[in-house]
Amino acid sequence: MTAGAAVGISLDPMSPNPLPASGAVDVVVVGAGAAGIAAARRLAAAGLSLAVVEARDRIGGRAWTVADRGPYPLDLGCGWLHSADRNPLVAVAGELGLAIDRTLPPWGKRSTGLAFAPGEQERWRADLEAFYARLHAAADSAERDRPAADLLEPGNRWNPLMHAVSTYVNGVELDRLSLRDYARYDDSGVNWRVPQGYGTLIAAAGAGLPVRLGCAATRIDHSGRRLAVETTLGTLTADAVVVTVPTSLLAAGAIDFRPALPDKRHAAAVLPLGLADKLLLAVERPDDLPAQNTHSYGRIDTAATAAYHFRPFGRPLIEGYFGGRLARALEAGGEAAFLAHAADELAGLLGNDIRRRIRPVVATGWDRDPWARGSYSHALPGHADARAELAAPVDGRILFAGEACSPHDFSTAHGAWQTGVAAADAIVAARG
Ligand SMILES: Cc1cc2nc3c(=O)[nH]c(=O)nc-3n(C[C@H](O)[C@H](O)[C@H](O)COP(=O)(O)OP(=O)(O)OC[C@H]3O[C@@H](n4cnc5c(N)ncnc54)[C@H](O)[C@@H]3O)c2cc1C
Repeated sequence: MTAGAAVGISLDPMSPNPLPASGAVDVVVVGAGAAGIAAARRLAAAGLSLAVVEARDRIGGRAWTVADRGPYPLDLGCGWLHSADRNPLVAVAGELGLAIDRTLPPWGKRSTGLAFAPGEQERWRADLEAFYARLHAAADSAERDRPAADLLEPGNRWNPLMHAVSTYVNGVELDRLSLRDYARYDDSGVNWRVPQGYGTLIAAAGAGLPVRLGCAATRIDHSGRRLAVETTLGTLTADAVVVTVPTSLLAAGAIDFRPALPDKRHAAAVLPLGLADKLLLAVERPDDLPAQNTHSYGRIDTAATAAYHFRPFGRPLIEGYFGGRLARALEAGGEAAFLAHAADELAGLLGNDIRRRIRPVVATGWDRDPWARGSYSHALPGHADARAELAAPVDGRILFAGEACSPHDFSTAHGAWQTGVAAADAIVAARG
């Protein structure tokens, strides 16, 4: 069957719903985020017919750039091409004609040190490095998996800030985090950005694919010779399905597998999504701010603090990044709660005058987003191997992809992308 032949697929990227909701295809892809788009591109290139069903009214999932909040495109989800020197989306950006900004990230060398007294920042960095060294040594040893918090030095003054950093990286404090999983995360340390937006890049990569928007998969019946994927708009039959929905939804049973797949549901449950949220602030007189593309923690004595990125891309903005329990508490209070927290912390760093100069542009709410229910996955202590369990295919025809399935690049858009490519390659290879 050639791409689109069975269901009359239009490849017009501007057409909102080019697919009928029912029909027969070779492969159904559930979810049009980074993983689903990568899988669909690969399957289409191999000449298979496919249908991508996406619950939202847009593609991209947790990669989402908005262009209607002012003069700049803003990334509400992923923003950084992590491990950029080996990130396949750098080449995709090149193919699509999207520029890449290679400015150093604001953390690390471009930290302002505003929150620290002289000399303190060096001591913080040294203690953080020592913590990571203990983490990797424990992960390499034969001892059982434990919470990463077990490797904090009792009484170390930087422990709260180490928890805060974990909330940015993992969406969760160290007590809820498997040390072995954390140690498996691999980052080359090279971080680039797309001025037009990482979400723009992922959505552009998906243009022209046969996507049915506003169409949620509700059941996957794999009792018969062909799979039946029931959706809110109809039923598709297929030889294989690639499931890319976030673990939060798999664990909640949002897709009813018939027969049930309790091992998958368990693996998803022990790989929950942590929470990270952004607050974008417009700033008057931005030239008074710290240098562009620099960074500061709000405070250094608590885990409940945001990280602030000053003038990203040289724009008159501050991006606040909130994670873990703090983000969860502030989401409940909406944009006003994020703003109040940020205003207090920024006033502590820059003086009270900043309160009058900032204006909220947008605050995210990834936890209450019904199709995400969080930001990115982490393994609970004792469950570092759940990623491989989730990623294992069922009968060679139900494949799982998405950031949580990535062995070393989990929690990222490129990790999700690679798992989508791998799932598609497995399907193509199996068909000979
Ligand atoms: C605030 C924030 C900051 C981030 N920063 C970075 C960063 O700087 N760099 C980085 O690499 N990553 C970052 N990430 C993580 C990155 O965005 C994700 O890891 C990645 O986009 C996940 O892609 P995915 O395809 O696995 O899942 P998703 O993008 O969630 O795609 C799954 C899709 O499935 C759809 N869906 C759900 N249920 C159904 C259903 N029943 N039927 C049909 N469709 C369904 C969803 O709507 C969604 O479109 C960030 C995320 C957040 C939230």
